[in-house]
Amino acid sequence: MVANIRYEDIVKAPKALLHDHLDGGLRPATIVELAAEVGHQLPATDPEELGRWFVAAADSGSLERYLETFAHTVAVMQTAPALRRVARECALDLALDGVVYAEVRFAPEQHLERDLTLDEVVEAVLAGFAEGSAEAAAAGKPIRVGTLLTAMRHAARSQEIAELAVRHRDAGVVGFDIAGAEAGFPPTRHLDAFEYLQRENFHFTIHAGEAFGLPSIWQAIQWCGADRLGHGVRIVDDISTEGPDPVLGRLAAYVRDKRIPLELCPSSNVQTGAAPSIIEHPIGLLRDLRFRVTVNTDNRLMSGTSMSREMALLVDAFDYGWAELRWFTINAMKSAFIPFDERLKIIDEVIKPAYEPLLRD
Ligand SMILES: [Zn+2]
Repeated sequence: MVANIRYEDIVKAPKALLHDHLDGGLRPATIVELAAEVGHQLPATDPEELGRWFVAAADSGSLERYLETFAHTVAVMQTAPALRRVARECALDLALDGVVYAEVRFAPEQHLERDLTLDEVVEAVLAGFAEGSAEAAAAGKPIRVGTLLTAMRHAARSQEIAELAVRHRDAGVVGFDIAGAEAGFPPTRHLDAFEYLQRENFHFTIHAGEAFGLPSIWQAIQWCGADRLGHGVRIVDDISTEGPDPVLGRLAAYVRDKRIPLELCPSSNVQTGAAPSIIEHPIGLLRDLRFRVTVNTDNRLMSGTSMSREMALLVDAFDYGWAELRWFTINAMKSAFIPFDERLKIIDEVIKPAYEPLLRD
């Protein structure tokens, strides 16, 4: 840790998070309790040991293996009370970590193993976020949580999930996403859903350019019309760093020119092999080139991380100071899916005043 930025100060500073999976952020102790209730077999029943198991399993280096860990979390999120509890704890945990705005995503279609309908799944999660946010505010740690509904890219329910998202737009669902293994499942498979969302004036992001390269990013933006890129880290494949100055290819230039937000997730990218290490993570180059870079957690449980920890890792690796942390935070807030005036209010009334004294020291 760089001497002039203390971890506890990073925790206190307001942060904005755009890419966090509900089923990737459960408390290990909650998984143990919920698994016991439904008779689900876990690899460990001691919460600490279970927490370590998740990180180790996700450390294997392949996205496919990484996704296996979700079988356990999803298995315990199949009833309304369980979903509500997980969402409530998610809001509380983020608020305690100093996150003032978060967009948390999950795939409703993965929570239908018992008797819930898609709408009931969404309602349970929204209720949990509302409950957790209210408790956090009462404890002096206000947080605004927006929900993104994810459709699985290998499945065929994206149109249905897009309609579900629009149906709940006034109750807290602020966007749509597609996720899952990229190779072999291009975003253009879900073109009907994206065209529907555009006609509804709704926002969406697409997981693209994580394990898979530029064609996936190009399709997400130029065919599907994504507002943001989930990860998008492979955009560096379109930047040549061989000469004295980096040279952007046409796609990289387009992404930067249009200020398309990149939802970068440093620890997660290292675990899945999308980046070799934090210090070699393309976030350094992308920030220097002033792409619309945001910092995110992806899956706090599988990466054993938090928003503050991701910021601290970047401070260590790239020698960043408060100016950079503020820039990442404002970038994220500008790129949020809530209305412009509400984003501005958080930037002007929460983020800027809190960073002002930090920048002065
Ligand atoms: Zn993700």
